[in-house]
Amino acid sequence: GSSDDNGNSKRNKQDVNPWTGAPYSQRYYNILEKRIKLPVYQFKDELIAKVLENQSIVVEGETGSGKTTQIPQFLLEAGLATQGETCVACTQPRRVAATSIAQRVADEMDVQLGSEVGYTIRFEDVSDPHTTVLKFLTDGMLLREAMHDPLLMRYSAIVLDECHERTLATDVIMGLLMEILPKRKKGSEHGELKVVVMSATLDAEKFQEYFHNAPLLKVPGRTFPVEIFYTAKPERNYVEAAVRTTLHIHQCEAPGDILVFLTGEQEIEQACEELREKSRSMDAELVVYPLYSSLSPEQQRKIFSEAPGPRTPGGPPGRKVVVSTNIAETSLTIDGIVYVVDPGFSKQKVYNPRIRVESLLVSPISRASAKQRSGRAGRTRPGKCFRLYTEKSFHDDLQETTYPEILRSKMSNVVLTLKKLGIDDLVHFDFLDPPAPETLMRALELLNYLGALDDEGEMTELGYQMSELPLDPQLAKLILVSPDYGCSSEIVSIVASLSVPQIFLRPRESAKQADEAKAQFTHHESDHLTLLRAYNEYAMIPDKERKQWCWDNFISERSMISSVNVRNQLLGIMKRLDIQVVSSDIKGDGSFSSVDIRKALTAGMFMQVAYRQRSGEYLTVKDNQHVYIHPSSVVNNRPEWVIFEEFALTTKNHIRTVTVTNVDWLVELAPHYFDLENFPKCEAKGELEKAYSRIAQSRSRR
Ligand code: ADP
Ligand code: MG
Repeated sequence: GSSDDNGNSKRNKQDVNPWTGAPYSQRYYNILEKRIKLPVYQFKDELIAKVLENQSIVVEGETGSGKTTQIPQFLLEAGLATQGETCVACTQPRRVAATSIAQRVADEMDVQLGSEVGYTIRFEDVSDPHTTVLKFLTDGMLLREAMHDPLLMRYSAIVLDECHERTLATDVIMGLLMEILPKRKKGSEHGELKVVVMSATLDAEKFQEYFHNAPLLKVPGRTFPVEIFYTAKPERNYVEAAVRTTLHIHQCEAPGDILVFLTGEQEIEQACEELREKSRSMDAELVVYPLYSSLSPEQQRKIFSEAPGPRTPGGPPGRKVVVSTNIAETSLTIDGIVYVVDPGFSKQKVYNPRIRVESLLVSPISRASAKQRSGRAGRTRPGKCFRLYTEKSFHDDLQETTYPEILRSKMSNVVLTLKKLGIDDLVHFDFLDPPAPETLMRALELLNYLGALDDEGEMTELGYQMSELPLDPQLAKLILVSPDYGCSSEIVSIVASLSVPQIFLRPRESAKQADEAKAQFTHHESDHLTLLRAYNEYAMIPDKERKQWCWDNFISERSMISSVNVRNQLLGIMKRLDIQVVSSDIKGDGSFSSVDIRKALTAGMFMQVAYRQRSGEYLTVKDNQHVYIHPSSVVNNRPEWVIFEEFALTTKNHIRTVTVTNVDWLVELAPHYFDLENFPKCEAKGELEKAYSRIAQSRSRR
């Protein structure tokens, strides 16, 4: 009885929400009216029929046509979920999309978020196994769930959304489904698993073929023409150009909201500030909203609010501008956008297996992305897109499409997960696009050095435990070895602090005060220990004073709350794995042993070491890359040996989150890695040699 959802039916038996048994609210009907107008709504019956007939189908449809919000609900209407038994999953590449869409769909279905509709992202599960029938989750989380539920028995249907993005985790899930689907065919003992592959662009054929000629459902978009403008000359500073263009639109163009694409939090906040500042004196109001992943859900929701009216009665109407990362390219649709400002960049993962560095790099987007972005301007009426690059550059410099992430990511995490799933033959695993052999080799090598895989490539007990922790292998190893150094409690706090957005805030207008505040926590040998001191102090402050304390100390309260939550979850996993939680703080006043913790850090991160040459420059050990300690680091006395968390390829090669270590620890803790027989010639090698002979001497003396 679903085909009479026409929004104006008289209240009758049909108006009872089948999931809750309660009558629908007025809001339900208001939203329903809008839902019915979405292009996919016309295809509801066809979709349900195709899904019931086939194990896999591919859906291709313009962004904003209603795929993500409606199709999972259609699957529920098709009877694919049974409360308390099986549910429908919908994957998203981004956390923000998973949480925001789950909230929207919960509203559409007139249910509580976390009950019938839920979401799961790393370290945050807002779902309930007894009641949830539709769950939005990041592609990475589905992969994690597969480790404990290899046939994905919790699910009767999986909607793989945003497949055109070709994220690493989506590609791996597709490969896994190739193994799972034959085991979960109709009539099989495990029950059928349905798969809906959704894509916004025209690469559907490739997916159809891969899923054994799955049928295609094509949802035609309903878009209006978008006029495209290019700059005459290349722009030197695209943030500045984006601000200028936005203000120009605000002053000169007809009413309609603006969407600006920038690459990350810092740029976005800077642009928002300037827009607010410079539009203050203008006739019409300009309301500015940022959108990026580390914003709180409440802040994210604001982007959907209506544009403001005139400042004074009869004056010009106000306008809304959303300054967003790539998330607004296809994942989230904001109604009312008529103008798009596209500087032509996004942050993209790059991986260089030779030097084992994965980094997020601001890079030119592809022509396919540029087309998606401009399309956002024409959803409700004809729009305009301002590309802040030349037309020649669009044709000559931009690639046709973005390379799949699997070709530009490190694979260590994925390889560990696949090993855990019993997939040993990675070379013959059915990837849509196989990763480079060198990348796989690097992953196997790293896991072997960390002791997760033995020399035959078999998973060790340690590797098994590492795979249980939802962390990069190095951090997982760090946690697992930390009890040996008597400081697992401190290490978990550090790892938790590293797993959340920036804890130390440094607003541009009060950089000096922020630096002074941070100085109170500074531990000069280590950014890790500086984080730990901040964490420990926060943890000792009574709950109701924490907000003020964070404010006074330029610390992100949200990040602190998350790190407490992450820490608790990690402690839970450690308990399950029987990993001891021991503290180096014997006095109980938050003090800790710097040496023990730095040793533990070295035992986990020995593959990320840099050595200061006599010339004063730092070189990474083994890979011999010139690096600079990032100016934000508290380590500023140029120690000889440092370990680092992150290698950021920007204009300079920066290492971030640094801790002082020493050569004796390196050879003591990781002799298999610092094996001088096949070690490139460099100054560090000489120091390592000396350390080895020192150790040999002290042994022979004993
Ligand atoms: P697609 O997946 O095809 O890109 P979506 O299902 O994400 O399309 O979006 C369909 C429509 O749902 C959007 O055009 C927008 O009007 C509406 N919508 C989605 N999320 C929200 C939200 N959080 N608030 C208000 N409207 C929303
Ligand atoms: Mg979508």
